[in-house]
Amino acid sequence: MNARVERSMQVAPLLAVREVSVTFGGIVALNGVSFELHKSQILGLIGPNGAGKTTLFNCLSRLYQPSRGDILLDGDSILTRPAHRIAEIGIGRTFQNVALFAELSVRDNVRVGAHARSRSDIISDSLRLPWARRGEARLNGKVDEILDYLELGDVAEVTVAGLPFGTQKRVELARALAAEPKILLLDEPAGGLNHEEVVSLGALIRKIRDDLGVTVLLVEHHMGLVMSIADHVVALNFGKKLAEGPPAAVQSNPEVIKAYLGSKEP
Ligand code: ATP
Repeated sequence: MNARVERSMQVAPLLAVREVSVTFGGIVALNGVSFELHKSQILGLIGPNGAGKTTLFNCLSRLYQPSRGDILLDGDSILTRPAHRIAEIGIGRTFQNVALFAELSVRDNVRVGAHARSRSDIISDSLRLPWARRGEARLNGKVDEILDYLELGDVAEVTVAGLPFGTQKRVELARALAAEPKILLLDEPAGGLNHEEVVSLGALIRKIRDDLGVTVLLVEHHMGLVMSIADHVVALNFGKKLAEGPPAAVQSNPEVIKAYLGSKEP
């Protein structure tokens, strides 16, 4: 186990999902799901189609309001926060199909992420007040660092729409990291990538965790990616937690195998 994760397991969890339920009309999408995520852990959330992964992800990013239960970040409920404020409390996310500003450059997209945590406001910025200028210089430096770190320096001025999908995914990661999240939520990051791209994405997610100590929760269908990078796996089925534990143990859990066989997924 990663030494940083081992240390963090001895203190209170960073994220606690407590008995969360979500219903849509008569459909119970999540039924009393609980688990914890410790600082610097990489948690993989798996399950066959319709298991409730996206619903849970949407609760964590505040797009859905649970009908029961609570979600605590550093001990405080996130359920009172609107979706547009989650970056401020330290939750960063990427989207399944990439949600960047296609007509803006890579640099400007990452700047948008950095602004989510910047203290400057529109009046100070437009009056070019001294603290706004200092804030701006700091923000530019941070954006440059992140672009270098994710090897996006060469395409910094390129419009996002013209980049390959794999690179766009890296820009999304850069944008999320620019807001300095405590926890990074990744929605099917391997979707649409070829084998080599998935392998390098996995290495990159591990590197981000190892270098920056960022905690990661990923919802992923690509079992190879989950098994190679997650420290802990939570398996859902029909809205309930079916199993959790180290990746190999969850993968060989008979209930999990049965759920996947039943759904005809790999
Ligand atoms: P997949 O892997 O196919 O994306 P999933 O594990 O993400 O599946 P969810 O999308 O969370 O599963 O769906 C859980 C259940 O809730 C399913 O029965 C689904 O049909 C239902 N559901 C999800 N979102 C809605 C919604 N907005 N309105 C009604 N039912 C929904």
